[in-house]
Amino acid sequence: MRLLLDEMLFHTARLLRIFGVDAETIKPKNDDELIRHAAKNRQTLLTKDVDLVSRAKHYGVNALFLRSDKIEEQLIQIKQELGIKFDFPNKTRCPMCNGELLTVGKERIQKMVPENVFQNHEKFWLCERCNKAYWEGGHWENIKRLYEKISS
Ligand SMILES: [Zn+2]
Repeated sequence: MRLLLDEMLFHTARLLRIFGVDAETIKPKNDDELIRHAAKNRQTLLTKDVDLVSRAKHYGVNALFLRSDKIEEQLIQIKQELGIKFDFPNKTRCPMCNGELLTVGKERIQKMVPENVFQNHEKFWLCERCNKAYWEGGHWENIKRLYEKISS
């Protein structure tokens, strides 16, 4: 399932990507453009705007109103109501561009990351779309904790 999130849900989108969900955000000129984009790409629109949900549905676009302002509760609602299974860290996406991350060998990223990062980490990912390298950095524990919380 592909998701399109309202710009306001930028942080939620980033976490969905880290947890492996295809979650796009765009900067539309107006709501119509957002709805058209979701229709064209067969995406489910996620928003905190009740009116936008009814307009999207009017145009035959699947849309979900997120009740909570808390990201943790939003993620649980998305899992439950859209029936999406997260398979993190087996599946993970680039938080910046939504591209798929591929596990790569150390030698491949040696010139792309700082020396101390290269020395201190064994596991690396590379975004197949924007070519950004990732490793289990400082936020990793927080992300893992959040994942366990929403998975229990
Ligand atoms: Zn990327």
